[in-house]
Amino acid sequence: MNSLDRFAQAKLDDLQRRHLHRALTETLREDGIWVERGGRRLLSFSCNDYLNLTQHPTVKQAAIAAIQRYGAGSGASRLVTGNHPLYAELEARLARIKQTEAACVFGSGYLANAGIIPVLIGRDGLVLVDELSHACLFAGAQLSRGTVIPFRHNDVGHVRALLAEQRGRYEHVLIVTDGVFSMDGDLAPLAELHALAGDTDAWLMSDDAHGLGVIGGGRGSSFSGNTHIPVPLQMGTLSKAIGAYGGYLCASSAAIDLIRNRARTLIYSTGLPPSSVAAAIAALDLIEREPAYAALPVQKAKAFTKRAGLPDALSPIVPVVIGEEEATLAASRLLADEGFLAAAIRPPTVPAGTARLRLTFTAQHPDDAIERLADIVRDKILVH
Ligand SMILES: *Cc1c(COP(=O)(O)O)cnc(C)c1O
Repeated sequence: MNSLDRFAQAKLDDLQRRHLHRALTETLREDGIWVERGGRRLLSFSCNDYLNLTQHPTVKQAAIAAIQRYGAGSGASRLVTGNHPLYAELEARLARIKQTEAACVFGSGYLANAGIIPVLIGRDGLVLVDELSHACLFAGAQLSRGTVIPFRHNDVGHVRALLAEQRGRYEHVLIVTDGVFSMDGDLAPLAELHALAGDTDAWLMSDDAHGLGVIGGGRGSSFSGNTHIPVPLQMGTLSKAIGAYGGYLCASSAAIDLIRNRARTLIYSTGLPPSSVAAAIAALDLIEREPAYAALPVQKAKAFTKRAGLPDALSPIVPVVIGEEEATLAASRLLADEGFLAAAIRPPTVPAGTARLRLTFTAQHPDDAIERLADIVRDKILVH
């Protein structure tokens, strides 16, 4: 074996030993909720397609029409010739939904976070980031080459203490948090963080990948509980409830213009295919017109947690924390035998010792299936 393959094999053997090896499983998504895997048909509680819009006829038709009109790909970076006419409409719509002056669409949520943070924070800046924030916020923070300090999950007191100690040493400070936490389903204390940021001249950025479309009447976590918290930097993705692909930042005109000029993941990456942009516009249209439909995933998650005896769901994401990797994989297999797809989530996606089933609820999940899933989780998984 050559040294490259020896290196790879040793790493893989170690992952296998620790039950942390991952494999790609071919999955055929038939509609918004059913999938076929390894010859089995399973009801999925693992997709982020909260509104089942990936399969919506209007959304699919918009994507097809965009391919017919503009082609399969965009041909270049948006800064060169890849800025096809659909982008302006999508950005105007995102800014309207989030009530910001402007918006900028990126190739994905990961690319957005990797691009935005280094524009705002340099070597002499500070990033305070919730310890349970998504991996790509940490990636963006590290790319900034500024000082990165994680704060305890949703602990505003800890952020206040860090600011009291550190604020004077840095010209600019960015506070970064998921709006809805991707593996825990809880919400960030955006009102408190926004007030604290205002008091200390820090900039607040929220990652609303799991909020847009499903929280706050579909507008996202800064609109939850019928209040509007004007978070100055609101990023998110078009690949979850929106059912398409791409990332975005909603912010002031000046901040967005700077991002367009400086974000390397925007400048040096090809624009999205027109079909993805068209699908996102169609999906946002549906969401704006039907806030009652947008409320369904959280309602379904709440029905599940009530019946399973778990803490009340705050978003469509419900963690069933098991702890050990092997036991979590066994629980996932048990549910597959019952006809449910519930993916096991293991470190490093979640902290060591907190391996879990991450259940996600969508608008179209039948209530009787949710009841049966809750009974199995309560009686066969949580009892151990
Ligand atoms: C999925 C996710 C992202 C990445 O978005 P993509 O468009 O899939 O790259 C970013 N942040 C959070 C919190 C996410 O859950």
